[in-house]
Amino acid sequence: MTDQYTFRNPVTAYEQIQPPEQSQPEPGLDSRLTPKADLGEDTYRGTGRLEGRKALITGADSGIGAATAIAFAREGADVVMSYLPEEEEDATKIAELIEKAGRKAVKVPGDLKDSAVCRDLVETAVRELGGLDILVNNAGKQVAQKALGDITDVEFDHTYKTNVYAMFWLTKEALPHLPAGSSIINTTSIQAYSPSETLVDYASTKAAINNFTKGLAQQLAPKGIRVNAVAPGPIWTPLQASGGQPTEDLPEFGKETPMGRAGQPAELAPAYVFLASSESSYVIGETLNVNGGLPTP
Ligand code: NAD
Ligand code: MG
Repeated sequence: MTDQYTFRNPVTAYEQIQPPEQSQPEPGLDSRLTPKADLGEDTYRGTGRLEGRKALITGADSGIGAATAIAFAREGADVVMSYLPEEEEDATKIAELIEKAGRKAVKVPGDLKDSAVCRDLVETAVRELGGLDILVNNAGKQVAQKALGDITDVEFDHTYKTNVYAMFWLTKEALPHLPAGSSIINTTSIQAYSPSETLVDYASTKAAINNFTKGLAQQLAPKGIRVNAVAPGPIWTPLQASGGQPTEDLPEFGKETPMGRAGQPAELAPAYVFLASSESSYVIGETLNVNGGLPTP
């Protein structure tokens, strides 16, 4: 059977998708994406790299977070899944895959724009898993707007609350529970260094996440807690089909990369597994770019 280790040409390993113009209300659903995204359901093969670990993943219902949740479970971790209540259908599918891997899946819907929800989420994770040693801050909000004046104050606030404040609240709440050996992984973006003109609010949150990661990494390194980030390029997920891109741009999505195609969530999961696992013990404050070859600083 083909898995992530199968030798293949990465250019043709995944079809060059040409998504039809489509639009879903936020947050989009994976179940409604055309074409379907690959979350690694049929391909990710675990080899015990996270045996006995306890992970909290935000945005674990779909896209990059869902692919990471599947991979973590198949590597031996129990997973607490955070997502929005509207995403129950997607979350249920991923929870079933985690359980099929023989691991515990705990679904905790809630809006992370609220600091109290973030605090409760961490406490629930610690209680349900009997501790916590991996925190993946992955939930994100991205809405393209052609002009700065089209970004309302409320939308600006919601983008920063979701992408930056929730990361701060969750990390602060988790820290007292994280033993030495734990790993915090934040999700930034190619947008952190190469912002699109239509994403000034979103892209600036990703620059903040990158910077937060590098600063906090130094603070926590002596405690044996590693902080790193993953910076995806254009990845086919519900975020992109629910306002993340102007709909007319969707058919060309990802073609600007040197590889010439969009990435799939399944191609991100190994980066999170690597940073979560003790095998990356000397990797701290790093941003692992997974972007089809777009140049980064
Ligand atoms: P996605 O839509 O599948 O995942 C985003 C998730 O964020 C949603 O499933 C939702 O559960 C969660 N979320 C959003 N607002 C929330 C809120 N208020 N409270 C709780 N949860 C909330 O899309 P994705 O592309 O997999 O996004 C995951 C991360 O990857 C995001 O941080 C995004 O910025 C980042 N990213 C994506 C791309 C890409 O091309 N898809 C590129 C770079 C970075
Ligand atoms: Mg989702």
